[in-house]
Amino acid sequence: MNGLTTDQRNFLKEQGIHLKHVFNAEGLKKSEYRLIMKELNMLIAYNVSPCQQEGHTLRTRSGHCCQCNTATIGFQRRNDSAGVVYIAGSIVGETIKIGFTKAEEIRSESLNRTKYAGFNDWQILFTLSSENAGRIETKANSLLRGYSFSTEYRHDDHWVESHETYRCAYSKAKEFVELAYTRESYKVKIEKNNPSNNYEFRNLKKC
Ligand SMILES: [Zn+2]
Repeated sequence: MNGLTTDQRNFLKEQGIHLKHVFNAEGLKKSEYRLIMKELNMLIAYNVSPCQQEGHTLRTRSGHCCQCNTATIGFQRRNDSAGVVYIAGSIVGETIKIGFTKAEEIRSESLNRTKYAGFNDWQILFTLSSENAGRIETKANSLLRGYSFSTEYRHDDHWVESHETYRCAYSKAKEFVELAYTRESYKVKIEKNNPSNNYEFRNLKKC
């Protein structure tokens, strides 16, 4: 990811923030990046205006300097853990995405409006709600790593890097989501489960 200094990378690592939750807010106003970040479940913005005290350039999506006040990160992370894990599919992209959202109801319009990974035919195929949704999502994504690819796409005249997009069948993604919660015995409530052969893409594992 471009534009992060070594100090910033180290800071994020210490705070346990994965780069997939870090958003390049270059050229965006707070009101703009806040909205996009919420939709894409991003926690920290960089390339923002420097903070007054120290000139730091990492902010939470509500615009607070997270280096002057690291408590703002913990607050956000704790809050982010209960919610919904979903599996979405794009037939055009032959792509599967596993995501996490705090919203009670995840709607494909949100992914399609942001043209996530460059596609706008996303359908939500599976959702579960859980107190541990954040952890389940992280675990499922790490289990599926072998099938991942990342791509940059335009969002409102702005380049965004997509993460957690996979070249694999829906059933493969679902298998790993199930593994992620059964292994830890997390309680989940399956809310949507619409298997469809249209989303049984080829499993393209990286060597
Ligand atoms: Zn600061």
